[in-house]
Amino acid sequence: MTREEETQYWETHDSTDYLEAFEPVTFARAPKPNLHCSQCQKIFLSRYIDVEISNGQVVVRHIRELYCPDSHEKRLSLEAQMLVNALEAVVKLAPQSQLVSV
Ligand SMILES: [Zn+2]
Repeated sequence: MTREEETQYWETHDSTDYLEAFEPVTFARAPKPNLHCSQCQKIFLSRYIDVEISNGQVVVRHIRELYCPDSHEKRLSLEAQMLVNALEAVVKLAPQSQLVSV
């Protein structure tokens, strides 16, 4: 069945007619991010910083960092860490000549 045929099929059929064909799936909820300093238990504050990735080849600007107001700990916010991880993967794949500033 092509993608187009599949689309046409589901426009005229109801998936609830096929419930016995579905298999149960299990979802796990991601752990809630800890927003407290593990040393003093104060809630983290938020600021925006520039982060060098891939040994300084690339600078990612305006990345959200969480930090203890008493400077015990700091870390990137979850969404910032995901962005940095994705960019590091892209930089690994890109030939040096194709890196551009955005
Ligand atoms: Zn602290």
